[in-house]
Amino acid sequence: MREKKRVLITGAAGFLGSHLCDRFIAEGMQVIGMDNLITGDLKNIAHLQQHENFTFIEHDVSQFVRITGKLDYILHFASPASPIDYLRIPIQTLKVGSLGTHNLLGLAKSKKARILVASTSEVYGDPLVSPQSEDYWGNVNPVGPRGVYDEAKRFQEAMTMAYHNFHGLETRIVRIFNTYGPRMRLNDGRALPTFIAQALRDEQLTIFGDGTQTRSFCYVSDQVEGIFRLLLSDYSLPVNIGNPDELSMLDVAQEIIQLTGSKSTIGFQELPLDDPKQRRPAITKAKEILKWEPHVNRATGLEKTIAYYKNLTKQDLKQQDFTYYNKK
Ligand code: NAD
Repeated sequence: MREKKRVLITGAAGFLGSHLCDRFIAEGMQVIGMDNLITGDLKNIAHLQQHENFTFIEHDVSQFVRITGKLDYILHFASPASPIDYLRIPIQTLKVGSLGTHNLLGLAKSKKARILVASTSEVYGDPLVSPQSEDYWGNVNPVGPRGVYDEAKRFQEAMTMAYHNFHGLETRIVRIFNTYGPRMRLNDGRALPTFIAQALRDEQLTIFGDGTQTRSFCYVSDQVEGIFRLLLSDYSLPVNIGNPDELSMLDVAQEIIQLTGSKSTIGFQELPLDDPKQRRPAITKAKEILKWEPHVNRATGLEKTIAYYKNLTKQDLKQQDFTYYNKK
C-alpha cells in the first residue's frame, strides 16, 4: 500500500486553514494542523479532533518549528489577516510573515518538502492598475497602518523566492484575493462578516467612505480548489486566486440587506488611511496554468455564509458582537 502523504498546515484553526485541513483530510492525507490561536478558534477544527488522520499542535510559528517524521507538503497560512487584527497585533503580524516564514522554509528544506505560502492581494497595496496581474509590483505605503501586513507578505514572497532560487526548494506562492464563507469570525472587521452581522441584527450597515470603492469576493470552496491545484502544479512564481466579479461596497451592502431580508439601512463613516480604492484579480495565469476559475456565484456563496451565521446560537452572536478576542 502507498504511504499516505503528510502535510503541515499552519493557521489551521483559522478560516482558510480549517477549510484546507478538511480538503487534505478528504484527499486521504495525514494532516498536522498548527496554530497559536491568536485569531483562530479550535471550534473551527473541533469536527476533526478525533479523526485518525488529524493531529493538532498549539504553537507559535514565529518560534522554531519542530516536527518529527516525514513531511511532503507545508502550507503556511498562519497570520492575522484582517485589518482589525493586524492593527491590534502589528509586531506579531510582522514576525509571522518574516520569522515564521523563515522557520517554515527551513523546515521544508530539512524535510525536502514542498511549501506553499499564503500571500495576498495586499502586496499590490492601493493599486494604480486594474485588474491586478501578477507582474504588477504594487503601490504600498511601508509606514502606513497597513504596512505591517503588506510588507510582511512582500518579505514572505521575497524570502520564499530566495529559498527557491538559492536552495532549489520547491515553493509555491498564492496571492489570495478577498475570500469569504463559513467560519469567518463575525467580529473580524472584514466587510462581509460585519455587514452580515449588522444585517442579522437589523442594525445600520457601516460603509467606510462613499461606498464607491470596489472589491471582488471569492467563495471559500473555489479558493481552496485553486490553492490545491497550485500546490500540485510545478509553477513557482506567484499566482492570483480570486474572483474577478467586481462590485462596489454599496452594492455589496445592498445585496446583503436583500439576501438576509433585513430592515437595516446603510450609514457612512470616514475612509481609513490607505484603504484600497479598487481590488480585482487578473486570473489569466490561474486559468492557463491551473485550469482553474471560480464557479460559485456570489448569491449562492452569500446564502451559504448567511446560513452559517444564522446557525450560530444567539449566545455566540452576543459574545462575538464586536468584542475583541483578547487572546495573547
Ligand atoms: P484567520 O485569522 O482566520 O486565520 C489565521 C490563523 O493563523 C489563525 O487561526 C491564527 O490563530 C493563526 N496564527 C496567526 N499567527 C500565528 C502564529 N504566529 N503562529 C501560529 N498560528 C498563528 O485568517 P484567514 O482569513 O484564514 O487567513 C489565512 C491566511 O490567508 C493568512 O496568511 C492571510 O494573510 C491569508 N489571506 C487571507 C485572505 C482572506 O480573504 N481570507 C486574503 C488574503 C490572504
